[in-house]
Amino acid sequence: MARAERYDAVVVGAGPNGLAAAIALAQAGKSVALFEANDSVGGGVCSAEVTLPGFVHDLCSSVYPLAIGSPFFRSLPLVQYGLEWIHSPAALAHPFDDATALIVERSVEATAARLGKDGDAYRKLMAPLAAQWEDLSVDILAPPRLPRHPVQLARFGLSAIQPAQRLVERRFTSTAARALFAGLAAHSMLPLEYRGSAAFGLVLGATAHALGWPIARGGAQKLADALAAYFRSLGGEIFPGRPIETLAELPSSRVVICDVTPRQLIKIARQQLSRPYVEKLAKFRYGMGAFKVDWALSAAVPWRAAECRQAATVHLGASLPEIALSERMAWSGFRSNSPFVLLVQPSLFDASRAPPGKHTLWAYCHVPNGSTFDMTEKIEAQIERFAPGFRDTILARCVAPPAELARRNANLVGGDINGGAPILSQLFLRPTRRLYATSAPGLYLCSSSTPPGGGVHGMCGYFAARRALRRMS
Ligand SMILES: Cc1cc2nc3c(=O)[nH]c(=O)nc-3n(C[C@H](O)[C@H](O)[C@H](O)COP(=O)(O)OP(=O)(O)OC[C@H]3O[C@@H](n4cnc5c(N)ncnc54)[C@H](O)[C@@H]3O)c2cc1C
Repeated sequence: MARAERYDAVVVGAGPNGLAAAIALAQAGKSVALFEANDSVGGGVCSAEVTLPGFVHDLCSSVYPLAIGSPFFRSLPLVQYGLEWIHSPAALAHPFDDATALIVERSVEATAARLGKDGDAYRKLMAPLAAQWEDLSVDILAPPRLPRHPVQLARFGLSAIQPAQRLVERRFTSTAARALFAGLAAHSMLPLEYRGSAAFGLVLGATAHALGWPIARGGAQKLADALAAYFRSLGGEIFPGRPIETLAELPSSRVVICDVTPRQLIKIARQQLSRPYVEKLAKFRYGMGAFKVDWALSAAVPWRAAECRQAATVHLGASLPEIALSERMAWSGFRSNSPFVLLVQPSLFDASRAPPGKHTLWAYCHVPNGSTFDMTEKIEAQIERFAPGFRDTILARCVAPPAELARRNANLVGGDINGGAPILSQLFLRPTRRLYATSAPGLYLCSSSTPPGGGVHGMCGYFAARRALRRMS
C-alpha cells in the first residue's frame, strides 16, 4: 500500500450486488466498509410493514430463482444466518378468462402434459435447458467472456436471441401456451417483438424446472440480512443511513466499488471521471418503470381457477396479443388499459407474513419510465377479472409509482427495476465497454447496470469485486 488507507475497499450501496461485492472482497481477506443510503440494507431486497401492523410486504423483489441459482450466493452459508427458502408446489400459475389456469411445475413432463397439443413443443424447448441449467448458469450469469460450456450456450443463444413473439408463434399454437411463454418473456421489460426478449422467458422457464421459484421465509429482508450478517462475520463494517453525494465523503481506500447506476455515478464521481467516459454513461438508456402495489387482505385471493392457489407467482394477461400490447404500450410511453400484471401471494405459503387468516399480496405492472399514471385501478381490475370478489378482501394498500420507487432507492431511476434497458446494445456490454471498470483507476461499478444485469443474483457484485481484487493483488 503506497499510503496508509483506512480500508482496502469501500463499497457504496448495499443492494444484493453491493453486498456480494463486499463479501467477495472480505472473503479475500480485505478490509471492507459498506455505505448504504437507507437505514436498512438490501436495496431491492427488502420488506416492511407498510400497510397494517403484522403484514410484512416485500417492497421490491419477492421471488428468487436467480438467487437460489446464483453460483456466488449458492456458495455462501446463508442458511446459517437465518435464510430459509420456501417453494410453493408450482412456480407459476397463469389464469384465463374461462376459469382455467396453466401451472408450471418442477417437472417439465407434468407441465407439458397440461399443454395439450403444445406439450411436445414445450418439452423440446424447456427440457434441455432445465437439464443443463447448472452449466448454462455459469455462462449466462457472467460478463461476456470465453464460455465455459460453449455448445450448451450456443444452443441456448439460438433461441434466446429471438424476439419472444416470434419464438412463441413458431413453437406454440394454443392461446394458453402462447400466453404462458409471453408472460415469462415479459419479465424482460422489453416489447416482445424485440430481439433478445425470448432469453428472459427461457431463463425463467428453465429455472422454474431446474430450481423452483422460491420466496424467503419471513420476507425478502431475511435474504439481505443474511448477506449482511455473513459479511459482518468476515470482519466487514456496514454504515447505514449514509447517502453518498460525492466520493470525497468516503474514507480513504485502495478501491471504491459503487452499487449505483450510471446517472448516479456521474453525480457522485464527476470529478474523478474522464469527459468521454461521462458522455458514454450519459447515453446509457434506462428501461420501462414499474408501478407497484402491496395489499393487506382479509382473506386469500378468491381465484376462479383453483390451480392459482398452488403457486406463489401468478401472471395476469389472457393472451399473447394482450401481453404484447401491454408491454409495447408501456415501452412507447402509453398507459395500458389491460396491463400485464406480475403478482405474488407469499402468505399462502409463509404464515409469518400476515396475522392468522389474513394475507399479503404483491403486484406490479410495467409503465413508461418516470410515468405518473395511476395504475392502481387497472391492476385491481385485472385481479378482479380472474378472482371476482378480490376487491372485497382489501383491508389496506400501499401504492408505489415510479417516483416513489426512486425515492426509496435511487437506483430505481424512473422506476426502472433492472438498472437499464436490456436492449441488445446494452445486454452484454453494460453500461459501457469497460463493464465494471470506469475511467478512474480504482473506481468500479457493480450494480445491475453491469453484466449480467437485473435480478437478485449478486453476480454483478461478485465479478466487479474480482476485477478490483486483480488491481489490489
Ligand atoms: C418492484 C420490484 C420487483 C422486483 N422483483 C424481483 C424479483 O421478484 N426477483 C428478482 O430477482 N428481482 C426482482 N427485482 C429486481 C431486483 O430487485 C434488482 O435487479 C436488484 O435488487 C438489483 O440489485 P443491485 O444491488 O444492483 O441494486 P439495488 O438492489 O437497487 O441496491 C442499490 C442500493 O444502493 C443504495 N444506494 C444508491 N445510491 C446510493 C448512494 N449514493 N449512497 C449510498 N447508497 C446508495 C440504494 O439505497 C440501494 O440500497 C425487482 C425490483 C423491483 C423494484
